[in-house]
Amino acid sequence: MTQRLVLIGHPVAHSFSGGMQQAAFEALGIDARYELWDRRPIDLADAIAELRGDDFLGANITIPHKERVVPLLDRLTEDAQATGAVNVISREGNKLIGHNTDVEGFKSALTKLVGRQKMPRQAVVLGAGGAARAVVYGLITDGFQRIVVFNRHLHRGEGLVRHFAKSASHMDLRAMPWHESVLEAEISKTKVLINATSIGMTPGETPIPAELLPPDLMVLDLIYNPSLTQLLKDATAARDTNVGGELMLLHQGARAFELWTGKSAPIEVMQAELDRAREQGLRQMPIDMGSGGTPPADLNAGSPASGPQTGLAGADKPASSRPA
Ligand code: NDP
Repeated sequence: MTQRLVLIGHPVAHSFSGGMQQAAFEALGIDARYELWDRRPIDLADAIAELRGDDFLGANITIPHKERVVPLLDRLTEDAQATGAVNVISREGNKLIGHNTDVEGFKSALTKLVGRQKMPRQAVVLGAGGAARAVVYGLITDGFQRIVVFNRHLHRGEGLVRHFAKSASHMDLRAMPWHESVLEAEISKTKVLINATSIGMTPGETPIPAELLPPDLMVLDLIYNPSLTQLLKDATAARDTNVGGELMLLHQGARAFELWTGKSAPIEVMQAELDRAREQGLRQMPIDMGSGGTPPADLNAGSPASGPQTGLAGADKPASSRPA
């Protein structure tokens, strides 16, 4: 019987995860098919119930369902419990187990970013969505002592801080308003900057103006398409070892593959498929993702950006004044 894996999100077209996982199944001779299920929130419970059928190995969950899916599952692993978000479902008999492999994917990318240096203890995180939760939890568990979260809508950043109140009780985790002077002050004090917003998917957009990036700042951008965002280009001008989101995508996907199959992921095969998808994706990448347009789903991760993208050329304006 052909086993089935699904990506459940809304929307899900143009997924990079699908090609990457399918290539891995084929490389290991596993009879499995990866499907894309575009399901609205109202249809999520039915989609999850379907996964209990014998032919399913599990699922990837993406925007906008990562948090909403939690109560529909039988058990959560520690990372999923701590972040309150699930991006992978595996099965144990007819029980559905929720995981968050974005945490592990992020940690792989952070390790690459830091390289041989001592792991820093302070970071600035941009964003407060599902990806930012995985990032903040990864930083807390990696021993960071001060994490400042900036988000366009401050209340969401504050909600994130409240969510981690217990895990972060030993350190300084705080949300601050997205104003350039505040950003500048915090960035100048930190070693690590992580972009966990979807700003940067449209060529030329950047969450932080180039002049605010100190030369020794290490920058990790979760966006993987384009693989070199404007933020990374600007930061790379000063430093050549910054990291894009592809490594995180690869490692969260490799971990998911292992959870579903119990086998080591063929990481080179998956990377080769990402290289191929990147080439193709760049050719297909619509440039009309401007105001009012919906970006193609999952162009940019196990979790695509949701909703319209807007140009942020006016990065000197307070984020709250930018159109959503
Ligand atoms: P969410 O939709 O949960 O969060 C989106 C975040 O981006 C929010 O913080 C939101 O701010 C911010 N944002 C979006 N548009 C704007 C804008 N115009 N101006 C200011 N802020 C904006 O998405 P995720 O957290 O799941 O994903 C975030 C990014 O991380 C995406 O690009 C996604 O593709 C990437 N990602 C990459 C992964 C990888 O493996 N490389 C894995 C997971 C995600 P607000 O709350 O104010 O709306």
